[in-house]
Amino acid sequence: MRIQTIAAALLVFVGIASAQRVALEKTENKTILLFTPHPDDDTFCCAGTLALLAKRHNNIHIFIYTNDDKGSYDPDMTSERLARIRNGEEEEACRLIGIPKQNIHWLQFHDGMLEYASPKDLVEEVTKIIRTYRPDIVMAPDPGSEYVRWHKTDHRMAANNTIDAVRAAEWHLYFPNQRLHDGLQPWKVPVEAYYYVTPQDANYWVNIDEVADAKLAAALAHVSQWEPSINKYRPDWDPKALEATKQELRTKASKKDGHNVEAFRIASELNQQ
Ligand SMILES: [Zn+2]
Repeated sequence: MRIQTIAAALLVFVGIASAQRVALEKTENKTILLFTPHPDDDTFCCAGTLALLAKRHNNIHIFIYTNDDKGSYDPDMTSERLARIRNGEEEEACRLIGIPKQNIHWLQFHDGMLEYASPKDLVEEVTKIIRTYRPDIVMAPDPGSEYVRWHKTDHRMAANNTIDAVRAAEWHLYFPNQRLHDGLQPWKVPVEAYYYVTPQDANYWVNIDEVADAKLAAALAHVSQWEPSINKYRPDWDPKALEATKQELRTKASKKDGHNVEAFRIASELNQQ
């Protein structure tokens, strides 16, 4: 028991130490992959951090597990049309924070169906992406957080699948066909930055004050996901609804010590719990 307690304390210490070593938003000229369940979680969790990273000439790629083709209450909406709308909204949200549309990649699963995909095929697919891009940082929903545990299916699956792929990517005996047939070498991801963390799990906060307006604009680019468009789709904003939503988003924005922040659990090496 005592040894376990000491080991747990050591892991916490290592976790804090590694988080302090990695100044996420100061990263420059690196390759960063962000995996997101839907085309907006990347905006809501991390648009501020991504905007700062884009300014620092990082090569940022967004991988979106699902096409978000279910998220509308409009009785006249179809899945095909909604998927097209969500595609355009995500491209606009990314453009506003400095990520070009050629860096957005759609894995094309249907909204809400990710948990019913073949887990082996899914982890193999993401392992291949990691071995292909050889990222310096992978960003993904935190598989350890209560938020993910109680959230909808795609979030749970995206969280667990991404960390499983990070692990598989570093061992050559996982999916050896990727090395034999595609020439892809194993890749050990140096840093993982998990988003959608609970306050007790967070170990790093990015100050996004200088890009808070860009984050707000990116969130509002997902027009179909807000009132009144989510109930009766319209491609533009009603000015009064726009103002009300802006106000709501400003009120709900994460704050720490009086600053706008985005919270992460940064992990590397031993800090894999
Ligand atoms: Zn989502």
